[in-house]
Amino acid sequence: MTTETLPNDALMMAPRALKPHLMDTRDERKRQDEKWGEQNHPWLHTVDGEAAPSRFAINTSETIKQMVDTRAQDGTLDFAAILLEEVAEAIDAETPDDVCGELVQVAAVALAARQSIMRNGR
Ligand SMILES: [Mg+2]
Repeated sequence: MTTETLPNDALMMAPRALKPHLMDTRDERKRQDEKWGEQNHPWLHTVDGEAAPSRFAINTSETIKQMVDTRAQDGTLDFAAILLEEVAEAIDAETPDDVCGELVQVAAVALAARQSIMRNGR
């Protein structure tokens, strides 16, 4: 779906706190479409059936989740770690449905982080 086909109704019905972020996201998607056209890359190339997060120089989602849990317990949790966990989960996901579910979580965490930064200035 290109930005030209995104229904404005969806934006109008979004919660007020999300609207500026969704509008900025829509504008960025428009810039991407203008620059690159419609993109149809595969989600992930595998090697011998293995996705291998290490190909991206990151740990597995399981390892990152343990790090996030530890940080939550010791009070050092940050959005970067949470977002990284969601990205790793999307890379580790085994079915297109699971990938799509994780990508929604990536987007939701990214928006939550953006909202927090704009509220708190950090
Ligand atoms: Mg997830």
